[in-house]
Amino acid sequence: MSAGPRRFTGDRLLVATHNPGKLAEFRALLEPRGIAVIGAAELALEAPAETGTSFLENARLKALAAARAAGIPALADDSGLECRGLDGAPGLATAEWAGPERDFARAMRRVREALAARFGGIDRADRRAAFVAVLCLAWPDGHVECAEGRVEGEIAPEPRGEGGFGYDPLFIPEGETRTFAEMLASEKEALSHRAKAMAALLARCFPPAPEAPRGTGEPPRSGG
Ligand code: IMP
Repeated sequence: MSAGPRRFTGDRLLVATHNPGKLAEFRALLEPRGIAVIGAAELALEAPAETGTSFLENARLKALAAARAAGIPALADDSGLECRGLDGAPGLATAEWAGPERDFARAMRRVREALAARFGGIDRADRRAAFVAVLCLAWPDGHVECAEGRVEGEIAPEPRGEGGFGYDPLFIPEGETRTFAEMLASEKEALSHRAKAMAALLARCFPPAPEAPRGTGEPPRSGG
């Protein structure tokens, strides 16, 4: 008989990322459940080389390295942008396209230029794309639980908006007209690849969230 997924029962979780944008998103997802999030930088953990050949392999190796180094459970994600018109690029190279100085204006220009070059103009390009995230939760003894999330959408003809991080100004999720960077953090959270992966992992490995207070009579917020 299988033992089923392992549950996280602590109240502190190491999040193995040095990316402040991702860290803020994980905090927003975990702290309402009473879980304090510690960033990799707070423990001066070094980021391991991402030598995997898939988002899953990279998320797994980052989570395991952090859990083993810190001696507490650690969560890591590996994520990226996949463009249909570029055969899935930048994919695993999503961070690399921003160069060593992490210049996302340059990365977004590269996506638009690659699409324009292949299709003879950005307006004629197949701009369908998806953000993908794989999350792994690792324990120091080597046990790992993983979950994947995807959000389909399209590349905006021009980057728009100031919010979020990375490629957010270039990505319009399906059913929306705004880019992720034009949304409130809470609106992005309702749609994002990372939030979907986190929801799957939370359902499997974490205790249920405390019930939200009810009966305020307020309608849910609409976007805008
Ligand atoms: P990783 O840190 O190796 O997972 O690289 C992920 C890359 O994808 C980074 O360049 C991020 O900026 C980009 N990325 C991942 N998730 C998002 C997102 O939600 N919005 C914008 N860019 C993202």
